Amino acid sequence: MEAFVHQGSPARVVFGAGARAGVAEEAARLGRSRALVVAAEGARAEALAAETAGALGPLAAGVFAGARMHTPTEVTARALAALGAAEADLIVAIGGGSAIGLGKALAVRTDLDQIAIPTTYAGSEMTALLGETEDGRKTTRTDPAIRPETVIYDPELTLSLPPKTAAASGLNALAHAIEALYARNRNPATTLLSLEAVRAMARGLERTAAAPEDASARSEALYGAWLCAVALDQASVALHHKLCHVLGGSFDLPHAETHAVVLPHAAAFNEAAVPELLAPAAEALGAASAAAGLRSLSERIGAPVSLRALGMPEAGVDRAADLALQSPYWNPRPFDRDDIRGIIAAAWAGEPPA
Ligand code: NAD
Repeated sequence: MEAFVHQGSPARVVFGAGARAGVAEEAARLGRSRALVVAAEGARAEALAAETAGALGPLAAGVFAGARMHTPTEVTARALAALGAAEADLIVAIGGGSAIGLGKALAVRTDLDQIAIPTTYAGSEMTALLGETEDGRKTTRTDPAIRPETVIYDPELTLSLPPKTAAASGLNALAHAIEALYARNRNPATTLLSLEAVRAMARGLERTAAAPEDASARSEALYGAWLCAVALDQASVALHHKLCHVLGGSFDLPHAETHAVVLPHAAAFNEAAVPELLAPAAEALGAASAAAGLRSLSERIGAPVSLRALGMPEAGVDRAADLALQSPYWNPRPFDRDDIRGIIAAAWAGEPPA
């Protein structure tokens, strides 16, 4: 066996239908008594935040329901003021990657503990990585203070995710596991969990698309999402994530849907170089190749398959290719501008992966 380094994910994970009711117990376990609940804007998120404050009972010190996509720093500044006014000693973030991103932005500025309660499959809750935007520019940073101390996965919260949102979000999660399979710092443990992640998420998504009310299907998908999130925490990302960061940042495309469209194309490009690393994923997806399996899954569950349909202009293909070559991430297959342009053009047009 080759030498390897494995760094475990230190978060405490509580998984189960109704698990969110135990949030006060988890806060007390961390030794905290004044929690600020953080959620996104909008009626649904506000209702969830209020429910969470109710479950915290006397440990709730306030609610800030103003998180937005891409963690704008002006929202963080307002949330910091709310945190100070509430004299909070704990952050409880409930929602998708946007709400959890705000919780992380607060934690890295204050070093407070966090409990994250994800309601999508984005995977942010397990990582020490934070992306923020200021004056339209996105920056990312990594710091152990960013990673939530406790994560509560409650599949009941995902029952309201519309099947199309669930499909895109699930493919976003699958991207973490697929890239972990060929990551430079992969090890036997990350490979094992990534393959189980692919299996569980693909099965969970198929079952959710067929029966959106099926709680056990949602539970399987959320279990897969947790493993995908651990893969994202423990193994580094490559070309696929770089392309999605460029596309999302430059054309304001929706995060999960962009991942869903690009993933089969990025997987096809890398699969040609490292077929042995993606063969078990192909098998898990029941297809001849991982790329074909991902595309077929997308079509069956109603995920988007073209960047054009997400609103990207055709003229953006060349600009995105130029941007993707700037400070590139490590990738198992070397690439040049023509390669990148080819991948983005195929994704734009919605062609099957090459
Ligand atoms: P999001 O939080 O913006 O949620 C997407 C949409 O789904 C929103 O409209 C939201 O209101 C809705 N929604 C969320 N949960 C719902 C539910 N249970 N039922 C019905 N509707 C629901 O987006 P996201 O896709 O969860 O996350 C994307 C964000 O997370 C991006 O900003 C991305 O950069 C970040 N992210 C960060 C990391 C990291 O490690 N730092 C990893 C993945 C994603």
